[in-house]
Amino acid sequence: MKILQDLLELQSVDTRLQAVRARLASFPKRSADAEKYITAAKAELDAAKAAQVAVVRDRKKYELDVEQWKERVRKYKDQTSQVKTNEAFKALQHEVDNGEKEIADAEDRLLEQMVAGEQYERQIKESEKVVKAAEDVAKVERAKIDGEKKAAEHELAQLNTERERAVTEIPESMMDHYDRIMKKHDNLALAEIREEKCSACGMRMRPQVIQAIRRSTTDEMFHCETCTRILYYTEPTAAAAVANAQPAPPAPNSTSTHREN
Ligand SMILES: [Zn+2]
Repeated sequence: MKILQDLLELQSVDTRLQAVRARLASFPKRSADAEKYITAAKAELDAAKAAQVAVVRDRKKYELDVEQWKERVRKYKDQTSQVKTNEAFKALQHEVDNGEKEIADAEDRLLEQMVAGEQYERQIKESEKVVKAAEDVAKVERAKIDGEKKAAEHELAQLNTERERAVTEIPESMMDHYDRIMKKHDNLALAEIREEKCSACGMRMRPQVIQAIRRSTTDEMFHCETCTRILYYTEPTAAAAVANAQPAPPAPNSTSTHREN
């Protein structure tokens, strides 16, 4: 069954091609994610800087308030030495008291702004560190993505060559057939019979069909009656060898969290 072997080889190349294409497709998002953290960190830095500017502006206003009220209080006090009546004196004294209260309030607000200013100052320094860290991380990530992308592109070129070679072995009508099934069924045109079922769709096979496939010495193709994929059968000895070729057991000192069974 050379044709089946050729198709299996093609399927194997196509499966690897899909994987490498999916990897290549993931790079733009990964790059964008790396930049996203920088943008977010810069936005926080900008917000802290804007808040700092507002604080400085308010502080100047309150400083001016303090100066103006001090000036008024000074005038009222000057006038008290010139008043003739007790009434007028009381009125001026009231103005002085009021002015001093305004000074105290403005000074309180000024102090609040200074405290807030220091807080934003710290926040700016902190945000600058975060931006720098995000840029460092992005730089490493960009280099990593570039490396992986080059490797993936190299692999893609190799697989394309491999595919061209595989395709030359397959008759054109069979290629059309293969392509049709690929398009229709999730890019998987061949399915192994395992435990008397189509391994792709899980449909149970009739024993006669399995027998016919096992005994077939011609290039006749067998298709799953449900999903229409091209069926192939691996003799149990070979299948068992594959099944027994399990990954090495975990090292004795590996932690229990890594144990899956
Ligand atoms: Zn099937």
